Amino acid sequence: MALKTPEQYVDSLRQLKICAYVAGERVHSVVDHPAIAPHINTVAKTYELAHQAEHREVMTAISHLSGERVHRYTHIFQNTDDLVKKIQMLRLLGQTTGTCFQRCVGLDALNALYATSFEIDQGEGTGYHPRFCDYLLRVQREDLMLAGAMTDPKGHRAKKPSEQADPDQFVHVVERRPDGVVIRGAKLHNTGGINSHEILVLPGTGLAAGEKDYAIACAVPAGAPGVIFIFGRQSNDTRKLEGGCDIGNPRFGVVGGEAMVVFDNVFVPNEHIFMNGETQYCGGLVNYFATWHRANYGGCKGGNADVLIGATAKMTRILGTDRNAVVRDKLTEMIHMNETTYASAIGAGAMGYRLACGSYMFDPMMSNTVKQNITRNVYQISRLAHDLAGGFLATMPDQKALENPEIGAYVKKYHTANPDYDVMERIRMGRYIENMTSVTSMVESMHGAGSPQAQRIVMLGLAGIEAKIKMAEQVISGTDDVKGIALPKSN
Ligand SMILES: Cc1cc2nc3c(=O)[nH]c(=O)nc-3n(C[C@H](O)[C@H](O)[C@H](O)COP(=O)(O)OP(=O)(O)OC[C@H]3O[C@@H](n4cnc5c(N)ncnc54)[C@H](O)[C@@H]3O)c2cc1C
Repeated sequence: MALKTPEQYVDSLRQLKICAYVAGERVHSVVDHPAIAPHINTVAKTYELAHQAEHREVMTAISHLSGERVHRYTHIFQNTDDLVKKIQMLRLLGQTTGTCFQRCVGLDALNALYATSFEIDQGEGTGYHPRFCDYLLRVQREDLMLAGAMTDPKGHRAKKPSEQADPDQFVHVVERRPDGVVIRGAKLHNTGGINSHEILVLPGTGLAAGEKDYAIACAVPAGAPGVIFIFGRQSNDTRKLEGGCDIGNPRFGVVGGEAMVVFDNVFVPNEHIFMNGETQYCGGLVNYFATWHRANYGGCKGGNADVLIGATAKMTRILGTDRNAVVRDKLTEMIHMNETTYASAIGAGAMGYRLACGSYMFDPMMSNTVKQNITRNVYQISRLAHDLAGGFLATMPDQKALENPEIGAYVKKYHTANPDYDVMERIRMGRYIENMTSVTSMVESMHGAGSPQAQRIVMLGLAGIEAKIKMAEQVISGTDDVKGIALPKSN
């Protein structure tokens, strides 16, 4: 069966020669570095749950290529049930880890490449799709952890790739050889790349006809020569090095362990190239990826918010405020916002539709609406968690103070609230809330899968304003020959 165990995932990472830097220093084994370990533990959980009988239906699927059972993180969506199950899988993983589990970008990049390679072949007579299917079969059989790298540094935001003062602000081809291409540039904010097997490199924007060198989509092994990961700084990240409870989520960390990935003249062989110069398909590819990716947040952030709401509810018991009607209403508000985004994500899957290549796409309006709500609801949920948990989130002394025999007893004594609860429960819950509502975590909700404006542009475009105006005109005309007016697809 093509399902790696968590141990096989970690062992396979050890085999790779990943060039990584953390805090400015070269890391010799990503697996053993305390800054990266929590993120590896989280991905390992995705492998672990796939082996558990009670989670088999959500965590695995039958490959349409091989007929074998594969990890859902390597599956091409075959129907609306697959889309709904994806959201359920994300909520389950969010509830289990309380953080970002990183494999979604690779999954959505796989699906975007599957659909786009098919469409390029149909339009241009190229042979990308069978090549991609061969690659996909290997990904499924080896149950690979894939990172998705779409976001370029972008330089001056008002200029196109070809207009930048520095051409490397967008990943591009710098050399063409009979057996492949050489690429240069960087991708930023890369989730999970530092602990992945391979990176799927995709163009991050629509391109003009003269920008062929930027229209490159390919798979690059994480350990390929010229690939350099520079790990990002997170709020409170040195706490991972200290151990103890201050990290908040001791086993799984906070967010996905993002890195800058530099491609310093990286050779990509032909068999790993799935788009090479077809600029007219780049906008479609970005749109496919974004639509598959934006609905995810109703699942993953839903699961994360379940843990956050749980920590906040527990905190109210520890404080002795849990019976108060206003406190209960604030918890209800948190639940309401969370379930709203989850329901939209499930709806986006249930209302999905079939693409020409045979795979299934989320309803675009609903998917974009999920992500737009996430840019608000996660902040609002966090605000209420801050409100209910109290000011000690920002002021409590650290683990070292707790351990100091001269002062530890004071810290415990004066943080004890309802004496029915151990003070350490309050401190641990507080640390989880503090870290899970840090800027690192919130900004992922804001910008991951595209800044809010990116969703608003799509939503306005899909809304069918002209049809809505006609509806208003008809209804307000007061005549009795009112006819139904079809809204554009996805309404
Ligand atoms: C935690 C996290 C994880 C991520 N993981 C991944 C990943 O795994 N893979 C990946 O490819 N990407 C990833 N991303 C990147 C994410 O998709 C981008 O952050 C997002 O698309 C916004 O791009 P940016 O950060 O460059 O913002 P910027 O481009 O700097 O945007 C800043 C602001 O400027 C506005 N703006 C930008 N350009 C224009 C313009 N021309 N005109 C007017 N306004 C403009 C934007 O709307 C926004 O409000 C991740 C991001 C985060 C925060």
